[in-house]
Amino acid sequence: MSGASPPLPPLREVIARYGLAPQKSLGQNFLLDLNLTGRIARAAGVLDGYDVVEVGPGPGGLTRALLDNGARRVIAIERDRRCIAALEEISAAYPGRLVIVEGDALEVDMKSLVTSPARIVANLPYNVGTPLLVGWLQTEPWPAWFDSLTLMFQREVAERIVAQPGGKAYGRLAVLAQWRAKAQILFDVDRRAFTPPPSVTSSVVELIPRAVPLAEANPRVLEAVVAAAFGQRRKMLRSSLRTLTPHSLPLLEKAGIDPTQRAEELSVEQFCALARAFAEK
Ligand code: SAM
Repeated sequence: MSGASPPLPPLREVIARYGLAPQKSLGQNFLLDLNLTGRIARAAGVLDGYDVVEVGPGPGGLTRALLDNGARRVIAIERDRRCIAALEEISAAYPGRLVIVEGDALEVDMKSLVTSPARIVANLPYNVGTPLLVGWLQTEPWPAWFDSLTLMFQREVAERIVAQPGGKAYGRLAVLAQWRAKAQILFDVDRRAFTPPPSVTSSVVELIPRAVPLAEANPRVLEAVVAAAFGQRRKMLRSSLRTLTPHSLPLLEKAGIDPTQRAEELSVEQFCALARAFAEK
């Protein structure tokens, strides 16, 4: 479906015409460089035949790139009412291919809006990026309704997603992400590429859901165990897990884990073993 882009005004003109002065409270750091939005859209792979969910289209730079890259439809969820008219202009230029949903992405039932196959691509607002990712990773049933996620985060968050055991960045996000997906940082984006520039570098992360998670675990229990363990990451597990249960020792023993270890030393598989021990207790 990719081909020449229909004529649309430059993004700076769109921002001026619709009065889209960026608002910090909405995490609005816009990408106006079409080479960059094109690069992000292409990082999501061949989109022909795919429904793409985009969170926070804003003035629509990435949205246009996703449509130009062949997406069957883009389902764009935007909380800022001011952006809707600008997006309608794009919708008119790509008839039947842009579905605009005004609302909070944390509350929208995305699955009900897409037809399989589907992907998620977004330059996420920094203030809701992490809860959105955790929500996607906790999707039930699994395998989920999307077969890839291509997401822009602050570099520091991206590092926490791909972190390995043993380091400071390893925590709840790494365990939940790598349990159900293969995650990698694709490339960094300089802060000066955004309008206005945020205070830090950003990174585009690719997450490819695993058909079968690394090890068996109930997502809610795993999340609770990981939150407790890393909630007090300096403490030994026998203490940190006491926030969940007074009987942490027999559960650690059942999972075959040394109670003097700390959360950051445990592999994803070990966290799953712990979650199974908790679920059976
Ligand atoms: N996609 C555009 C781009 O790349 O230029 C804008 C990205 S900007 C980082 C984040 C966008 O998410 C803004 O348009 C903002 O209004 C929107 N947004 C913020 N919170 C949101 C939420 N809870 N649900 C949906 N959209 C949200």
